[in-house]
Amino acid sequence: MTMARGRPGTPGPAAPLTGPAGRPQTGPAARVLVVEDEPGMLRALFINLRARRYDAATARTGREALAAAASRPPDAVILDLGLPDIDGTEVIVELRRWSASPIIVLSGRTSPGDKIGALDAGADDYVTKPFSMAELLARLRAVLRRDDPGSPGMTEAVVGHCVIDLTAHTVTRQAGGGAGQAVRLTPTEWRLLETLLDHPGQLVSSRQLLAEIWGPGHELRTNYLRFHMGKLRRKLEDDPARPRHLLTEPGMGYRYRP
Ligand code: CA
Repeated sequence: MTMARGRPGTPGPAAPLTGPAGRPQTGPAARVLVVEDEPGMLRALFINLRARRYDAATARTGREALAAAASRPPDAVILDLGLPDIDGTEVIVELRRWSASPIIVLSGRTSPGDKIGALDAGADDYVTKPFSMAELLARLRAVLRRDDPGSPGMTEAVVGHCVIDLTAHTVTRQAGGGAGQAVRLTPTEWRLLETLLDHPGQLVSSRQLLAEIWGPGHELRTNYLRFHMGKLRRKLEDDPARPRHLLTEPGMGYRYRP
């Protein structure tokens, strides 16, 4: 189904592609649609995105967002869940009918149910208000990198003292100056690790991990994940009780922090 193309309902700051003192851009700026009804927050987001040379567009309601996205498809969407007209989760569902662009949810809500609902509807990541602008921008870079077909796939990753060679499928623990010690992973541990490494810095929902690794019908078996993540951490993290790279997002999923 395609969405009816409405009038682009994007009042607010006009957004020329480059600023007056614009540094030369190496490619077209990524277009980021910010959907937020609180004027101060919308302005702060817009200014910060423009300062980093994103082609930022704004919308203050869910309907305005859908019209703006249909009129000029964004490369990424930053979406407040609490909007005055339709719920943010509904905006995600509508966007996902035709768009695969990454969506980062801004949630002022404390209930994990709302965030899970947003992730299940197709959001890629979430940031809880109040948030740090630096963190939001890092998440944005992460989802845009994932979405860029030109970016080379990762071939090597480091977790603590372990070097993971994704091409050779080997893990080597470096200790002291020696040659390193091989660490063996089970096939399930490999699939779990690879799925997380595929999304550096990003939240991967439990549902997505379970569906990708165990297949449809296993989306609720979060105990599988806890068990295998525990084993992975014991093999890879320097201090498995205080993981620094293979992180749990309680009630949501897991995140690989490079
Ligand atoms: Ca709001």
